[in-house]
Amino acid sequence: MRCIAITLALLLATPSFAADRERIATLNVAGTTLLTYLGCVAQSKLLKRPTSHKRCIVAGAIGGTGFYQAKRLAGEGHITTAWAVANLSSSAIENTMLGEHPLSRIGYGFGPFRLRLATPFDREKESIVDLDVNLAEAGYLARAVLDADDVDVRDGMIWWETRNPDVQGDLVFHGYTWGAFPGVWSGAQKHVWNHEAVHAIQSLQLDSVEPPLFDLREASRRARTPLRIRYVRAGALNLTDNVVWAQAPYEQRWAEIEAYRFAERRSPPK
Ligand SMILES: [Zn+2]
Repeated sequence: MRCIAITLALLLATPSFAADRERIATLNVAGTTLLTYLGCVAQSKLLKRPTSHKRCIVAGAIGGTGFYQAKRLAGEGHITTAWAVANLSSSAIENTMLGEHPLSRIGYGFGPFRLRLATPFDREKESIVDLDVNLAEAGYLARAVLDADDVDVRDGMIWWETRNPDVQGDLVFHGYTWGAFPGVWSGAQKHVWNHEAVHAIQSLQLDSVEPPLFDLREASRRARTPLRIRYVRAGALNLTDNVVWAQAPYEQRWAEIEAYRFAERRSPPK
């Protein structure tokens, strides 16, 4: 773990480095592994449910690789496939973090909800679908709807559109993403859609490594049911990441370095 922590610290300490794909891949794998491990430790304290730390490290590394590939696919315009790969990566991390089989449930993020369908690997067999709620994503969706002239479901995600680009001083933005909700100006070019889809995947990635705040299972007395509301997730990591990186110059923000590299093969403009 120490090596991973040092690698992460070195990469974060040099935000102006040439953001080539190898480094982005390294940070995705190392960062997701580290955060999954920390999430496992926090989860076992919060929900008092034991997890295997070794399994968490492996799941974090596999999940980080999956998220890297998902962002690469989104940058190339394969957004539906990218969202599916990101959701599968997220599922492996969240299942393992909860002490379950990595494939016990396949999750799908839609709006502030995460629908998690049981597979034959689910040992508890208490429900077919668990529905988790993410509080920060609920806030982000509300914010996106307020900014939107139109809201649409596309590529399995909720998109919002504006009739005019967002002008902030000398800068004109053709797209903006609130949490897992990408938004674009209606006249934006295709690479802007791909760029914003990368941001939505980044949001799902941060949500996946954060342990749930509450488990509502006890409230339902473990009754066998087709559908139940299961975990309440704060989305605090996502929110913190947004607030902290907003203090950095635009071209140094890690989310932008990734999105520009994947969608346009270049660094963010200064
Ligand atoms: Zn961006």
